[in-house]
Amino acid sequence: MDVERVLGRLGDAARPGPTVLFIAGMHGNEPAGLLALERVFKDFDGERGSVVNGNVLALAGNLPALSRAVRFVDRDLNRLWVRARLPGEDARPEDAPSVEHAERIELLRELRKAVRDAQGPVFCIDLHTTSGDGPPFVVFSDTLRNRRFVAKWPCPLILGIEERIGGSLSECMSLSGAVAAAFEGGRHDDPASVDWHEAAIRIAMVSAGSVRAQDMPGYDEARRMLRDASRGIPRILDVIYRHGLRQDHDFEMSPGFPNFTPVMRGRRLATDADPDDPELRVAVTAQRTGRILLPLYQGQGDDGYFIARVISRLWLFISGLMRRCWIDRLVTYLPGVRRVPGPGGKRGGWLERRYEIDRRVARWLAEDVFHLAGFRVVHETDEMVRVARRPHDLRAPEKVDL
Ligand SMILES: [Zn+2]
Repeated sequence: MDVERVLGRLGDAARPGPTVLFIAGMHGNEPAGLLALERVFKDFDGERGSVVNGNVLALAGNLPALSRAVRFVDRDLNRLWVRARLPGEDARPEDAPSVEHAERIELLRELRKAVRDAQGPVFCIDLHTTSGDGPPFVVFSDTLRNRRFVAKWPCPLILGIEERIGGSLSECMSLSGAVAAAFEGGRHDDPASVDWHEAAIRIAMVSAGSVRAQDMPGYDEARRMLRDASRGIPRILDVIYRHGLRQDHDFEMSPGFPNFTPVMRGRRLATDADPDDPELRVAVTAQRTGRILLPLYQGQGDDGYFIARVISRLWLFISGLMRRCWIDRLVTYLPGVRRVPGPGGKRGGWLERRYEIDRRVARWLAEDVFHLAGFRVVHETDEMVRVARRPHDLRAPEKVDL
């Protein structure tokens, strides 16, 4: 698929109101978001565009990968958004070391311009599809502002994937002060994926406040469609495990694990080459009990699968309350938890502080509690996990700093 970087604009940058950024085709084999944006934007052609508050901008992600219909050419573009390593304003695509590094420079230029011109809050929605089957769902970094935004989406809400993969655009936007989420709208080549994306785009525009529900064509139908598609699936899940793949892996997911399949610890999920003897194949079994997410049923990618556990609404409510009342700080006194210096040896304020959880002492519980108390994983090994508090959790910054 050959497309321009800017897929469409609605509203007026000078008009006060939210700035809503949609990104589609961050992975070149996921065209559903582009097709759906085209459908929705058509509804606001000409005069009909006057109902839009603020402005809405739709951008295409990885143009060279889209034209070849592959996930990426050299590098996964949705792993390059590590905030501390973003290129400066003067970076030039022609000097970039890979196709995706050049794409990042161009995309970043558009994002920075939109953020600079914003006259109100900034929302960023990254549109994706999956290689496995299953209903649509929303992935987001667990800040209370992001929670409020996705609460109106009638489909499963997933916490904790972003921080485990590292370098995703929506995590980067969230850390920069925007409200952000990623939508995973069905299997790559399923025609229903385009309908689900269309529904998600309409709902996102209403939840962000760009268009009032009564001015959004097909709004009730959109809500009904997502609700029906995810019937019987738990509403909120927290990712507790990522099965990362080695560079020389030969991972093969067993068939029959659509998104959200419940698995018990020890169940055989896949096979892979033995790291010590590549001639041998070994079974990969579930490390924890929970629901399978994003199983890898395609060649490209380095996440084998994720395991998530179901979170009750009550627990979510309590964790929100904890953060508002600053009780979240108590979790740092749990056994097996110690404070460690932040980046560059800084001890700094609350947001810069790092805590290390010793997995041999604290097991999984402390980690799960930290997660819901608003901490994100910044580094993990088999023995320990290092966490830091999420910025911009309760309040938007004056200006998004990208
Ligand atoms: Zn994707």
